[in-house]
Amino acid sequence: MSDKKREISLFDETLREGLQTPGLIFSVDENIEIAKILGESKVGFIQAGYPSAHKSEFKAVEKIVNLKNKENFDSIISAHGRCYKPDIRKIARLGVDQIDLHITLNDIFKDNKEIKKEIKFAREKEFKKIKLSILETSKHSSSKLIRAIKEFEDMLDIVTLPDTSGKEYPLSFSEKIAKVRKNVSKNVKIGVHCHNDRGLGLANSITAIQKGADLVETTIGGIGERNGIADTLCCYLILDSLGFKTNINLRKLLEGYEKLNRLTEKRIGLSILNKRKPITGDWLATHTAGTHTNKKYSGRMKKLDEKLNRSDDVSLGIYSGKRAVKEAFKNLGIPVSTKEVKMVRDTIKDISTRELRDVEEEELQSLLEKIRKS
Ligand SMILES: [Zn+2]
Repeated sequence: MSDKKREISLFDETLREGLQTPGLIFSVDENIEIAKILGESKVGFIQAGYPSAHKSEFKAVEKIVNLKNKENFDSIISAHGRCYKPDIRKIARLGVDQIDLHITLNDIFKDNKEIKKEIKFAREKEFKKIKLSILETSKHSSSKLIRAIKEFEDMLDIVTLPDTSGKEYPLSFSEKIAKVRKNVSKNVKIGVHCHNDRGLGLANSITAIQKGADLVETTIGGIGERNGIADTLCCYLILDSLGFKTNINLRKLLEGYEKLNRLTEKRIGLSILNKRKPITGDWLATHTAGTHTNKKYSGRMKKLDEKLNRSDDVSLGIYSGKRAVKEAFKNLGIPVSTKEVKMVRDTIKDISTRELRDVEEEELQSLLEKIRKS
């Protein structure tokens, strides 16, 4: 399957999966503010909540639907529920575009007639799209999944195959998705939802897309049950760099990260803007060791993602080379000799090992003055 120009939908789960993060809860107003940013970010789908969980979720979803109508978002508003009539009835009252029903494969094989009745019941309501999530993909072979989906493929728009326990591996998971994609009607979009228990949530999501999945479920900051799922921004940036078509407003999405970071820090002390985070962390533009800083100054260091527009930085410490020191003085507009650069570099290494810290660029002038006086 060609990777180029295929359109991939980002299905943001921050307002459902994200709220399964231990200890994290948003007020109804906060839910609305996040939904607004997601709509403005142009994510394909917004999972607005799980209305059966509590009346506040029902209210939040209702308000998100009103917000979409008022602001004219393109994002499809979805609500999550169990595959049975009381949940379907409740969600139908909300006017969402899509219902997202979850079920296990065993439920399907135990009584597929009953499940068909429930999906038919949902079809009779005014949903534009019906989505079915079949939980725990890792427990089942592709042939079993295909057999299950085929039972209902003419009644569904999207089937998501979540790696609910985070046990899948990129190669085998993507092969499983490829087989499902090949054998299921093209009218049904195949989605993935990958938990990050083994740190493979992002890798599983991306390889599944490369092998044919049409939709990927993500959250801002990758938050969610246990240690979460694939991160919305990382998924978008990687898919974009691989040549897939997405339709994200990056500036707005970054605003969402700032907003959510304030909330997660306040409520549970969790920073989703971790400096070491792959793809998006600030330290991806900070260089330390001589070989790396030399590459940066020679212009050979290609930034991983130009779109984030991070400014390059250098940390001065035990592994710093002379070039980094020379460039730092150049930045400060202070002329120095080659000998002085070497002496300052050695002093930086001494300070770093003695005081167990980096040396700031602002300290260089006084270090140089001390060296000149000695
Ligand atoms: Zn999940």
